[in-house]
Amino acid sequence: MAEEEAGDAERMEVSTELPQTPQRLASWWDQQIDFHTTFLNHLARLVPEIYFAEMEPDLEKQEENIKMSIFTPLEWYLFGEDPDISLEKLKHSGAFQLCGKVFKSGETTYSCRDCAIDPTCVLCMDCFQNSVHKNHRYKMHTSTGGGFCDCGDTEAWKTGPFCISHEPGRAGTTKENLRCPLNEEVIAQARKIFPSVIKYIVEMTVWEEEKELPPQLQIREKNDSYYCVLFNDEHHSYDHVIYSLQRALDCELAEAQLHTTAIDKEGRRAVKAGAFAACQEAKEDIKSHSENVSQHPLHVEVLHSEVMAHQKFALRLGSWMNKIMSYSSDFRQIFCQACLREEPGSENPCLISRLMLWDAKLYKGARKILHELIFSSFFMEMEYKKFFAMEFVKYYKQLQKDYISDDHDRSISITALSVQMFTVPTLARHLIEEQNVISVITETLLEVLPEYLDRNNKFNFQGYSQDKLGRVYAVICDLKYILISKPTVWTERLRMQFLEGIRSFLKILTCMQGMEEIRRQVGQHIEVDPDWEAAIAIQMQLKNILLMFQEWCACDEELLLVAYKECHKAVMRCSTSFKSSSKTVVQLCGHTLETKSYRVSEDLVSIHLPISRTLAGLHVRLSRLGAISRLHEFVPFEDFQVEVLVEYPLRCLVLVAQVVAEMWRRNGLSLISQVFYYQDVKCREEMYDKDIIMLQIGASLMDPNKFLLLVLQRYELADAFNKTISIKDQDLIKQYNTLIEEMLQVLIYIVGERYVPGVGNVTKEEVTMREIIHLLCIEPMPHSAIAKNLPENENNETGLENVINKVATFKKPGVSGHGVYELKDESLKDFNMYFYHYSKTQHSKAEHMQKKRRKQENKDEALPPPPPPEFCPAFSKAVNLLNCDIMMYILRTIFEQAVDPDSNLWTEGMLQMAFHILALGLLEEKQQLQKSPEEEVTFDFYHKASRLGSSAMNAQNIQMLLEKLKGIPQLEGQKDMITWILQMFDTVKRLREKSCLIVATTSGSESIKNDEITHDKEKAERKRKAEAARLHRQKIMAQMSALQKNFIETHKLMYDSTSEMSGKEDSIMEEESTPAVSDYCKIALGPKRGPSVTEKEVLTCILCQEEQEVKIENNAMVLSACVQKSTALTQHRGKPIELSGETVDPLFMDSDLAYGTYTGSCGHVMHAVCWQKYFEAVQLSSQQRIHVDLFDLESGEYLCPLCKSLCNTVIPIIPLQPQRISSENTEALAQLLTLARWIQTVLARITGYNMKHAKGEKPTIPVLFDQGMGDSTFEFHSILSFGVQSSIKYSNSIKEMVLLFATTIYRIGLKVPPDEMDPRIPMMTWSTCAFTIQAIENLLGDEGKPLFGALQNRQHNGLKALMQFAIAQRITCSQVLIQKHLIRLLSVVLPNLKSEATPCLLSVDLFHVLVGTVLAFPSLYWDDAVDLQPSSISSSYNHLYLFHLITMAHMLQILLTTDTDLSFRISFSGLPLAQIQEESEEARSASSFLAEVSQYTSGCIGCGIPGWYLWVSLKNGIIPYLRSAALFFHYLLGVTPPEELFTNPAEGEYSALCSYLSLPTNLFLLFQKYWDTVRPLLQRWCTDPALLNCLKQKSAIVRYPRKRNSLIELPDDYSCLLNQASHFRCPRSADDERKHPVLCLFCGAILCSQNICCQEIVNGEEVGACIFHALHCGAGVCIFLKIRECRVVLVEGKARGCAYPAPYLDEYGETDPGLKRGNPLHLSRERYRKLHLVWQQHCIIEEIARSQETNQMLFGFNWQLL
Ligand SMILES: [Zn+2]
Ligand SMILES: [Zn+2]
Ligand SMILES: [Zn+2]
Ligand SMILES: [Zn+2]
Ligand SMILES: [Zn+2]
Ligand SMILES: [Zn+2]
Ligand SMILES: [Zn+2]
Repeated sequence: MAEEEAGDAERMEVSTELPQTPQRLASWWDQQIDFHTTFLNHLARLVPEIYFAEMEPDLEKQEENIKMSIFTPLEWYLFGEDPDISLEKLKHSGAFQLCGKVFKSGETTYSCRDCAIDPTCVLCMDCFQNSVHKNHRYKMHTSTGGGFCDCGDTEAWKTGPFCISHEPGRAGTTKENLRCPLNEEVIAQARKIFPSVIKYIVEMTVWEEEKELPPQLQIREKNDSYYCVLFNDEHHSYDHVIYSLQRALDCELAEAQLHTTAIDKEGRRAVKAGAFAACQEAKEDIKSHSENVSQHPLHVEVLHSEVMAHQKFALRLGSWMNKIMSYSSDFRQIFCQACLREEPGSENPCLISRLMLWDAKLYKGARKILHELIFSSFFMEMEYKKFFAMEFVKYYKQLQKDYISDDHDRSISITALSVQMFTVPTLARHLIEEQNVISVITETLLEVLPEYLDRNNKFNFQGYSQDKLGRVYAVICDLKYILISKPTVWTERLRMQFLEGIRSFLKILTCMQGMEEIRRQVGQHIEVDPDWEAAIAIQMQLKNILLMFQEWCACDEELLLVAYKECHKAVMRCSTSFKSSSKTVVQLCGHTLETKSYRVSEDLVSIHLPISRTLAGLHVRLSRLGAISRLHEFVPFEDFQVEVLVEYPLRCLVLVAQVVAEMWRRNGLSLISQVFYYQDVKCREEMYDKDIIMLQIGASLMDPNKFLLLVLQRYELADAFNKTISIKDQDLIKQYNTLIEEMLQVLIYIVGERYVPGVGNVTKEEVTMREIIHLLCIEPMPHSAIAKNLPENENNETGLENVINKVATFKKPGVSGHGVYELKDESLKDFNMYFYHYSKTQHSKAEHMQKKRRKQENKDEALPPPPPPEFCPAFSKAVNLLNCDIMMYILRTIFEQAVDPDSNLWTEGMLQMAFHILALGLLEEKQQLQKSPEEEVTFDFYHKASRLGSSAMNAQNIQMLLEKLKGIPQLEGQKDMITWILQMFDTVKRLREKSCLIVATTSGSESIKNDEITHDKEKAERKRKAEAARLHRQKIMAQMSALQKNFIETHKLMYDSTSEMSGKEDSIMEEESTPAVSDYCKIALGPKRGPSVTEKEVLTCILCQEEQEVKIENNAMVLSACVQKSTALTQHRGKPIELSGETVDPLFMDSDLAYGTYTGSCGHVMHAVCWQKYFEAVQLSSQQRIHVDLFDLESGEYLCPLCKSLCNTVIPIIPLQPQRISSENTEALAQLLTLARWIQTVLARITGYNMKHAKGEKPTIPVLFDQGMGDSTFEFHSILSFGVQSSIKYSNSIKEMVLLFATTIYRIGLKVPPDEMDPRIPMMTWSTCAFTIQAIENLLGDEGKPLFGALQNRQHNGLKALMQFAIAQRITCSQVLIQKHLIRLLSVVLPNLKSEATPCLLSVDLFHVLVGTVLAFPSLYWDDAVDLQPSSISSSYNHLYLFHLITMAHMLQILLTTDTDLSFRISFSGLPLAQIQEESEEARSASSFLAEVSQYTSGCIGCGIPGWYLWVSLKNGIIPYLRSAALFFHYLLGVTPPEELFTNPAEGEYSALCSYLSLPTNLFLLFQKYWDTVRPLLQRWCTDPALLNCLKQKSAIVRYPRKRNSLIELPDDYSCLLNQASHFRCPRSADDERKHPVLCLFCGAILCSQNICCQEIVNGEEVGACIFHALHCGAGVCIFLKIRECRVVLVEGKARGCAYPAPYLDEYGETDPGLKRGNPLHLSRERYRKLHLVWQQHCIIEEIARSQETNQMLFGFNWQLL
């Protein structure tokens, strides 16, 4: 204590002068006597100075200051040298043994089902990838945060506890070497420093004074500088907080949002700085504003700025400590020791416990850092983990209570650390032995639950708070963790403490036994359904804990017996009320039972009986151990009282029966739900199953007749079996019948269900196998469905995989759906119709399935029970139920009722059960007879059943009754079963009469034969009747359905079936036309053009079902269609898009095809009028609907009335105008019209127009002429002399539709408001024609399909309509406008013609130019007076020359952009083929052509590229263009293409294309042919500076063929993707909170989805990162993969999207959305391909619309913020 004064004295000195460098400061510290005081002084001086600007801190500066003036000196002081050097040394001195990585929320963790001790043992991504478990049956999960990696913990793994990076040392180095590189001095320094550090951290963290600092830190005059600090809580929503802040602080929304985000993340934040009074005022304001919005005020404090500063620094110091400790185990140990040291003479707990106890009061950010501190110290050192655990258990009660009253999530509570300690087997054992942790936990439970205890000391959860009770579950969970690994060695102390734990646990169960009792409501329905969920939820939580307790007990006979005794005592204690109630007597067939006069239908009953069920569980385990004989040593016979034990479970089963019989209708839904869970897989093991076992115990220990009398009495059925009564009330009869059925079922279960180890001689495997068999008898099921129907053990395992392949075979899934397991045939024999885990529906489904199957196999329909396994000795007496008098009486009574025509007191179901019981009895006797000599078998079912029931005249035995039943016609369905039983009687009889064996067999077999004959006869007759009935039914059904179906639906069927045969229909159509035109040329262009093939088209309107022929003068018919922007072909993904197309000039398409406009159709035809009516009706009805956002009516969207795909317009259907060329004209013209002349004519025409316009208006078309060409022989009218015809006249209706469709293309393609007069409308028409063709061509190529043979019907019809529409569109426009566009287009390919802004050759798509010029060209024939168009022959030349010119331009494009990379060429020239090809004509032409071209480009194009290479590149490059052109001309002109284009694309395709398009196969010949005309063109193109510029920017060049887009490559193993996502950091925010990384499957970008940080504003609306990305990446349409959830989402526009199955499947062929199951997932190529096609077929919008149509009610996800 003396030093303290000295320290005080020095304080003055410190403040005057301080060493400047860290090193000097450290050595100065060294000279001080008391480090702690010096250290505090130092902090007191510096911390407030560094953390002064809380509101707007300069974080970098802060960090730098802290490092320079505090951390680095501390490190110098610690190491005595430059810390960088020391730390570097330490880094290499050896790895840790434990990974200990702390998981952030949302991070993926891995567990191994083969090797993990329990499922809480997990690995981080890195360790997993480097571990052996990667190839095991691993599971993936998403962490909720707070856990840590168990790599290196040998207790957590059965094998492979280390990953490669945490493996302890390579061979040769010992552990010691690895661990201790620290020298004594450093250790001594650490001992000095660490206690001060941790003390400061703890003291500042738990500091409660708002205005004062601890005296040691208060070294200066206090200033009036405060903060108003707001804390996070769970009562207030984001919006509430923002609202309150805005009001109270009068600040901007953005500022309030900033504060709120920070508060949510960190847990607290200063929202205002200032003098105390001001902050106090702000505090009150915030409180009162928040109180207005919700009941609780926000938590606000006013803190002095220095308090705030020190608290902030304390956390930073914690992080520093973390870093230092990561370097050495010694550091960690020293730190832990400091934390555990109790201050001498102080009442306070040690430092670490003080932190623990303070945890619930801390805010989020602080907790996180402190938990990390614990992880990186205590949890990394096994020994200290134990000390920590002991401290934890010491304060367990308090910690849990604090947690329960806290409102923070469990993941950030100190109590969540329990899993890290309790699941470690050695630690758990230690805690039980030393601290009796089981009792501690159960007592905690008892202490936190009393508010739910009623006056009988039973729980009652009425009006419970879900949140609070949810917190209590955490305590129950701890119990599970403690029990999760069974001890292998039992010490005396462990046994004692465990038994202590059981006693304590039984206290809880006592409060549950009989809780929430109910009484049947008669008369009035209950007013409110009582809360039942809480009790059932606790039951679910307890299920595995109860099982584990039983398993622990079963470890050792002695323990089990003591536990049994305790449990038995507890049951008896809970049954006192029963023992004292009044008695009644039941009598039947001479047997009497005296019992309590309890009635389920009148008295109180509860379904919660955990103690009775635990006792049943212990009994079974006793039987399994073979120790039942010792039971009386612990529970004397006279105390055992089996009828008391049976009583409550029996009541429960009766309650279930009465609920089924609808006797409890008035008690509402809550009871029905409870009964459901009672038998559900989540609860049944510790509810229903155990009740059946308890009855089996009863049946094996009680007199069978007495037992049955008790059952009859409790089921309230004793009267029903008393023949004297007769009931008339139908409802009552129904009720009785149901009760009898229920009772018979339970009796079947008692004697038949032996599949529990300990009840019957079965193994656990056999039990699981039987469950699976029965599930698969219902239907084939996917893996997940089977797993869901099997109970999980404490390790979440079902044991499914171990046995499934023994009983079932796996059927792989196709492109959709999932893989399923099918039952093996040999397992069918194990089917038991009365399997006790079947629900009612499962039972009838399974029965139906199995009968159907037997019928198909031509077998009889009897479904007798399979022979059950043998009972264990302890249960063997239960079979006596079968042959006791009362049972016989029951069976006989049922059969008698059934043969009595006047009786209603029986049902077919009841009979079936009676048959089942008969069969069980006979099987039992048969089995016994086969095993032992006849005289020893006392089980005499046969004998009893053959005995007459009474001595009356008409007395009959059971066999006689069965014969009678066979004759009853209504029991047709049971005949086979009755026959089976009668045969069984025979078999048993013969076994009994072994002595006269020979006689018996012969007569027996004869009788069987006779039986069979009559049997067959009967069968035939039955079949005939059944067939007649079936036909009659069918007729009626047909009549009914005819009445019901409406028109559309009838026709939908028709349409569906036709679309399936689409391929066929196409070929049929073509075949029909082929013979007629086979003589003609299959050439589309030029003078040799073949004829158009047209046919009369009569279409049916899907709306009115009327037929109409398509004619230009008729009213229009239309195709439903959808226009969309598309980036499917882009060569430049993500190119910035103009969000509004107001200023875009769409005449030329860029060569990268970045954004196109695609027009698709579903191919359904309507009258224009019908469609308009339909659309109006939809509009009208949508005004009344709530869900209008399904489609956007404003922009013309609707669903196709037939196929429901999303459409936004219609395409008018216009017939093709047939054209034929007469041969005489052709000859003449061929001489005259050369390319040169044609060009001159065209130019003359254009000039003429130009001059004409120039007279009146200003010249709009700037045309420049080369002098030489302006030949006067060609004048304005020359063009007309080659042949003209009058223009086509369309009906007004068609014109109207043309205009409508054209406007839609314009509106959607450019994202502008509709404007019918906009000059860009024709451009957009041409553009969508070209782009749609290119997209379809690309798709066909992608799928390897032929150009014409494989088009879908909808594509075919769509293209046809689109091209004919485009022809008509020109006519509905101003011709001057079209001319204007045409001249601009022509300026690309005509010599001597130039217009403004002619783009450079390399940056236009020439196919678009081709489509535009061909469609616009007829406008040159227009004259003011007459409406003319070129004649067939004229247009054939126009097409030919336009096509040839543009093709040559495209060739140049291809050659200029050829990849001349040398290495690429070398790889080619190595081929011997290259030499040969070099000699070819094409190669030579190519070389010489390029030599020519290179002259113009001044060397920009490298010479010396081999000719063959040029030719190959050209041929490959030009094919897509040629294919597109062939499609275009075919749909424009209707000329039949050559055969080769219908079959598979192979060698023949190229030459067929050339021939169809009138091209030489050596394309260079084009240049030779037109050389004189083309040369100036070449020159002009090549010398264009823009082109040369383009060539220099190699990266941006588009090469041909263009690359085909596909979805990005995905890794085969899904965990790789998760790995990738784990490295993802949001680009906008620095924190590492849970993010939703989403992968764009178009471009591979990873985005930060559903997060405010990455939202963008588009047109004034907030959109999420994905939606924003989609705008550029996919023009609004996109496919994303949500990585952490393994879900694919399709999005479109701002507000639409849908989920789509991910292409990843587990080994069972199932997807795993949300990674709920966590099985390893692998990429399914087929499914990914399917997704790719959805994109390339432009079907994303369709998929979205379809899924919205089906799910519209289910969820309203806000897609906009994705
Ligand atoms: Zn790890
Ligand atoms: Zn590791
Ligand atoms: Zn493993
Ligand atoms: Zn119609
Ligand atoms: Zn349709
Ligand atoms: Zn993208
Ligand atoms: Zn972000």
